[in-house]
Amino acid sequence: MSVSVVLFTSDLRLHDNPPLRAALASADEVVPLFVRDRAIESAGFATPNRQAFLADCLAGLDAGLRERGGRLVVRSGAVTGEVCRVAAETGAAEVHMAAGVSAYAQHREERLRAALEADGRRLRVHDAVITAVPPGAVTPASSDHFAVFTPYFRRWSEQRQRTVQGAPRTVRVPEAARSDRLPSRTDVSGVSEGLAAGGEREGRARWSAWQRNGLAGYEDHHDDLPGDLTSRLSPHLHFGTLSPVELVHGASRRGGAGADAFVRQLCWRDFHHQVLAARPAAASADYRSQHDHWRSERSAAREITAWKEGRTGYPVVDAAMRQLRHEGWMHNRGRLLTASFLAKTLYVDWRVGARYFLELLVDGDVADNQLNWQWVAGTGTDSRPNRVFNPVTQGKRYDPQGDYVRRWVPELAGLPGAAVHEPWKLRGPERAAYDYPGPLLELSDGLARFKQARGRA
Ligand code: FAD
Repeated sequence: MSVSVVLFTSDLRLHDNPPLRAALASADEVVPLFVRDRAIESAGFATPNRQAFLADCLAGLDAGLRERGGRLVVRSGAVTGEVCRVAAETGAAEVHMAAGVSAYAQHREERLRAALEADGRRLRVHDAVITAVPPGAVTPASSDHFAVFTPYFRRWSEQRQRTVQGAPRTVRVPEAARSDRLPSRTDVSGVSEGLAAGGEREGRARWSAWQRNGLAGYEDHHDDLPGDLTSRLSPHLHFGTLSPVELVHGASRRGGAGADAFVRQLCWRDFHHQVLAARPAAASADYRSQHDHWRSERSAAREITAWKEGRTGYPVVDAAMRQLRHEGWMHNRGRLLTASFLAKTLYVDWRVGARYFLELLVDGDVADNQLNWQWVAGTGTDSRPNRVFNPVTQGKRYDPQGDYVRRWVPELAGLPGAAVHEPWKLRGPERAAYDYPGPLLELSDGLARFKQARGRA
């Protein structure tokens, strides 16, 4: 009996999973393996919301494999050691896995390849699993990656995507493959109350519903804060319970302005991944330094706490920060406004905000989070690095009736319409009726400080 291992990482699915398909094609039996990686856990990346979502994904993967005659093997420890041990215990000749993007994923792959080869085994790494187009597949003439989105999008759109693969019918797992107990969502404490459920079944149901009900209107409604009309597929893309290749194919088949706009967003995801793959240091270092002397955590402690707690006195910022805490997710427009408020209006180091987002976001992803934060802070790929979002005008534009604010800031629930965006303007009994802080600072003061810092005063 020949045996292969498939190491699941950010591809926790049975549908359209090339490493799984290749492992099944290469051997009589396959060990579907997930390693609870101690390095990721001790680096603080395994936060409660993502741990809980991950537990759902692993349970779903196990259930799907059992329906096909197999099961999931879960181990805990150092990933290289655990994979080599499982391969030795089952006599596997090959290990299949998806190509990763971050510095950590790249080192993991190198270490694993060396350790397996030293044991006389092979590592086979598969592209277009975690992203639709592999990082490095399209490059400009003069660089190893695109630093500007529009030309990247043009080239990305011209790429022929591989065909979508179905889920396997049967999976035979060798008896010798011992598994630890699967983690459960109930093992995790500190999870956001409104956290979505994870798992491939849930992801596929969401994707089907989204194609039927959301996709066509996406272009018109993606910025509608109270409408909440985006796909909410980001956690599934992050954990790989959905395949980006399958989503691009599915949306393109439907066509229309909504589908085109949605595919463009999927391309943004690939764009950030190809930047990070080429410049892994951009996870923490400025991609394009603006020579900032940011206010630190210590010097802006009071403002940072107010921002985290959703008590800045700017209602749309506070609503979005409270949504983040409650759901472990935030609408994209909210992410733009809250990040701009911290990095530009308060002039606090973008890394402080990025770290807090990563603590809570269920879709928290090094490529998407750090590079979007850099984009907003003006140290990344934005072609207008000094733009500052005004939370009052943005609130009125994207939440014109104030319903999003009233949903998340109950102190202001009694205020009518767009008045909710400027509670400080109310006078008399209306003003006395709510218990909500005044603005943390004048927006004009924040803007002046930022312009001066960037040499634009
Ligand atoms: P939709 O609008 O339905 O878009 C579909 C998919 O396209 C998303 O699921 C996502 O995978 C991708 N996408 C959309 N916008 C972007 C974008 N700007 N960059 C990269 N991919 C995008 N996204 C994450 O997945 N993880 C993060 O950690 C993350 N951090 C962010 C931090 C900041 C400061 C900002 C401004 C944005 C961040 N984003 C992040 C991007 C974006 O906000 C989310 O992907 C989106 O809000 C998820 O909701 P959705 O699935 O309904 O998106």
